[in-house]
Amino acid sequence: MLTPLAQTRFSAMSATDTPLPPDVDPRSLSEADWKARLSPETFKVTRKHGTERAFTSPLNDEKRAGTFACVCCGQPLFRSETKFDSGTGWPSFFAPIGDGAVTDHEDRSFFMRRTENRCSRCDSHLGHVFPDGPQPTGLRYCMNGVALHFEPDDA
Ligand SMILES: [Zn+2]
Repeated sequence: MLTPLAQTRFSAMSATDTPLPPDVDPRSLSEADWKARLSPETFKVTRKHGTERAFTSPLNDEKRAGTFACVCCGQPLFRSETKFDSGTGWPSFFAPIGDGAVTDHEDRSFFMRRTENRCSRCDSHLGHVFPDGPQPTGLRYCMNGVALHFEPDDA
């Protein structure tokens, strides 16, 4: 029998979530469409602003060169060159790809003032950005691994 932690890790690693084909407009999907498409954990995080449990994403340890895309719509969001080990248990980056792929939104939930990040193409909730990251930006994009789809360069 699996322990709860093992179950979490197993479900994260065997995630069947794959981004929409590029010719499908993600904004045409209803909440019910997303719910039918995504695993329960991914739906909760990306469409309901949830947070995955720390140290559950296999992407924490992902060290290969490649692109981290939006798990919902496939838009490229982060590159491996900007990933760093923050020790927080969530995949962390010091900068997103290019301009405008990741949008900032003020988040006042839980009596805190934080900056939430979303995918600019489909509005998927990704995580939060904090001003305590490494140079050259000094930013720490703290992302939910289930919100990301990793595509290695040599695949
Ligand atoms: Zn997206």
